[in-house]
Amino acid sequence: MDCLFCKIVSGEIPSAKVYEDDTVLAFNDINPEAPVHILLIPKAHITSMADINESNSAVVAHIFEVAAKIAREKGFDDGFRVVSNCGDSAGQTVKHLHFHLMAGRDFGWPAG
Ligand code: 5GP
Ligand code: ZN
Repeated sequence: MDCLFCKIVSGEIPSAKVYEDDTVLAFNDINPEAPVHILLIPKAHITSMADINESNSAVVAHIFEVAAKIAREKGFDDGFRVVSNCGDSAGQTVKHLHFHLMAGRDFGWPAG
């Protein structure tokens, strides 16, 4: 499968890793939209949030545990935001499920 984030998981494309375990990888976004902008992904390919189901949702819960751990350890005391863009109209450009973890500035709401 020609998937950019699967290639990052395999190491074919390098990334600045923040966290890694058997099922989850977190790495810095190459084009950060905030002082801290980390992407959290399942190592196994899931295309988007629309493809989460009973058989693969455990890793999603784990991703949120990892996001909270990173936030605690990096001291995002002023707050942080987690976003997943799902589908073209939401601006999903990489079709491998990922969650943007952003911190270090104020965020407007609702997002544009
Ligand atoms: P999306 O637009 O699908 O919600 O988010 C995809 C994200 O992946 C974007 O924020 C983009 O900057 C990031 N990205 C695209 N290509 C690469 C890459 O090769 N390496 C890293 N670290 N991030 C990438
Ligand atoms: Zn993939």
